[in-house]
Amino acid sequence: MLKIAQSLRPVLRNHYLIAATLLAPLSAHADPVQAPLPELLPWSGSSEALVVTQGDWVTPAEASGFSTTPDYRQTRAFIDRLATASPDIKARDIGTSAGGRQVQLVTLTAGGSDPRTNGKPSLLAQASIHSGEIDGKDAGLMLLRDYVNGDEELRRLIERVNLLFIPMLNVDGHERTGLYTRMNQRGPDNAGWRTNSNNLNLNRDYTKLDTPEQRAVMDLINDYQPSLYLDIHVTDGEDYQYDITYAYNGAFASDSPAITNWLETSLQKDLDRTLSDAGHIPGPLIFGVNPKEFADGISHWTAPPRFSNGLGDLRHLPTVLWKTTP
Ligand SMILES: [Zn+2]
Repeated sequence: MLKIAQSLRPVLRNHYLIAATLLAPLSAHADPVQAPLPELLPWSGSSEALVVTQGDWVTPAEASGFSTTPDYRQTRAFIDRLATASPDIKARDIGTSAGGRQVQLVTLTAGGSDPRTNGKPSLLAQASIHSGEIDGKDAGLMLLRDYVNGDEELRRLIERVNLLFIPMLNVDGHERTGLYTRMNQRGPDNAGWRTNSNNLNLNRDYTKLDTPEQRAVMDLINDYQPSLYLDIHVTDGEDYQYDITYAYNGAFASDSPAITNWLETSLQKDLDRTLSDAGHIPGPLIFGVNPKEFADGISHWTAPPRFSNGLGDLRHLPTVLWKTTP
């Protein structure tokens, strides 16, 4: 059963940085084989209203009731449609994967201006670094669709901020799909694979840069100089009440204490309020000291720089590793 449906809904703040909200479980369908997962609790919230099921602009995930996610070809075809429909949306390839596929960047800017030179801050939202964790891609397509459909709030936001969106970073893993590629998660039925075609984990490669995919991301960051970077995942299934969690290094271990302070006191506060108002339970990304029994204690994670949020901390780029729960 899939519980992803989510939408990046930027929230513009005074300092011109935007964040994202995601929405959680929406629809259910029977799994061919029931994995021994925790009970799915009933949920409803205002972010359900972001789902579109009729008209010309239903995203592929919405069309399937969130039971599947579009493949590489279908995803790129939908993005082509979006870019044709709005001059503000542009797509270009920023690198070639180890398996020979193109890694795509989608930009959304007012008037289609170049985010590198238009003087506005940029939010970089990256999906599918682990392709079995695909919520961010489908949410991003929904958000771009809303923009094409004339969402006024989004249009006001994009007047002030550029959106840089990588829908499929681990594009080879994205195409290695199956019912059991992500067994500890409720869907999609065609969930992708964690590593790239050389079996390298892109979210362990932020410092060493062995992979062409990750080198493309670093070139992108150096070229576009985003102000905020979201690396969007789905958690491997800790059994806790949170449906959305985020991670950045704590001030006690940070190389960028002023940024950490801003993340804690400004961004997180705003996100918590926005998400809670929409019916979600946001929280920190935590782990059980004993993975089978949270009551034994929990641990907070400090990411080294081979992870997105660790590298962001090191290079003074506000970076949040973001996870929905399956
Ligand atoms: Zn992940």
